[in-house]
Amino acid sequence: MKPLPQAQREVLASVAPLPAEHIDLVDAAGLALAEPIVARHDLPPFANSAMDGYAVLASDVAATPVVLEVLEDVAAGSVPTKLVTPGTAIKIMTGAPMPAGADTVVPVEDTEPAPSSVTILASWPVGASVRPAGDDVASGTTVLDVGERLTAARLGICASLGYHSPLVRRRPRVAIMSTGDEIVPPETAELAPGKIRDANRFTLRGNLEELGVEVVDLGIIGDDADRLRATFATAAANADVVVSSGGVSMGEYDLVKHLLGELGSVDFWKVAMKPAKPFAFGRLSDTPFFGLPGNPVSVAVAYEQFLRPALLQMMGATQVFRPRLPGVLDQDVGTDLGKVVFLRVTVSPGDDGHLHASLSGAQGSNILTALAAADALAVIPVGTSEVARGSLVELEMLRMPESRTAAEVTDV
Ligand code: AMP
Ligand code: MG
Repeated sequence: MKPLPQAQREVLASVAPLPAEHIDLVDAAGLALAEPIVARHDLPPFANSAMDGYAVLASDVAATPVVLEVLEDVAAGSVPTKLVTPGTAIKIMTGAPMPAGADTVVPVEDTEPAPSSVTILASWPVGASVRPAGDDVASGTTVLDVGERLTAARLGICASLGYHSPLVRRRPRVAIMSTGDEIVPPETAELAPGKIRDANRFTLRGNLEELGVEVVDLGIIGDDADRLRATFATAAANADVVVSSGGVSMGEYDLVKHLLGELGSVDFWKVAMKPAKPFAFGRLSDTPFFGLPGNPVSVAVAYEQFLRPALLQMMGATQVFRPRLPGVLDQDVGTDLGKVVFLRVTVSPGDDGHLHASLSGAQGSNILTALAAADALAVIPVGTSEVARGSLVELEMLRMPESRTAAEVTDV
């Protein structure tokens, strides 16, 4: 058996980042930068007011109340035309440029306006409610690095700095298919004896869409050598990555295994992990191929350990693995001495300040309900045959679930 870290290293060593191209910001969510985002100007570009109020000299409002002459109004988007001198003020809106001469803003709440003057009721020091130029980013600063993925806030940064079409790695096209004579589409109303509905293409699609890659769905392919051969060839020609589920273990009808020898250079591994021990990896022509096992939970775990990090690497992301957090396992669990075991667990915060994990259901590789209920995979290393209740384990977080209903608005 191949140790899991070795299998992961081999996979990651053989997939390269896709080409970089400029992509409009509206289509760039989730993609990784192939150029650094360097501020070509200060952000904000000019000193401006953080409040609706009056731009004044702090020295004028050191003793209050005091009456100041109002020279003009400046709205956001326009510019002041006058200089604030002792005894004067300019009415200013949030986001409007600071007038020359003024060094502080008195919020409107601390004033009493009159037709052409204002009474200032409270003292404010120099710089109060003023956002200096470059408050957020100074011109010349590298704000985002190559390999960082465009999250919502980072899209906002790119937009603010004029990177409307940043250089990113292109979105991978991933072809997926389910294999097996027993697999029928989910719309099948009556299951014939021996048939089951296809789960794997849908868990895979859900994962891939969440990751932000393009999915090419090639459907269900029976255990038929000619159809498999044709589908693999089409897939390899039209996608950046080909993924199948089923047919890679030891059974007589595991045709994927037999065919791949002919079509490309694919290796069949027994990875020291549970679930998802059988796994095929290699190339169909030149396209990376992932042959996932058939059992639905194995598909999900193999996705997490191999396919997801490989796709993130193809996307040019620097960080490719899910976060791991320590947590306390709340029950005794027997595992497998010779394999890394991934337990499906729910995770919640405990009163002791630690995260706590409990099995989310039965741990068979066919038990989709336990996968559906899981927040994390608890990673039990090789060399462990049982984990005692109360032990600290590593939790590979699959999601951070919403945790409160609409009725549970908390007081802060
Ligand atoms: P295999 O690796 O082809 O021997 O499949 C292992 C197990 O996973 C068998 O019980 C299959 O019926 C099941 N299986 C394979 N593909 C799917 C699928 N797409 N959806 C649900 N179960 C599947
Ligand atoms: Mg099969």
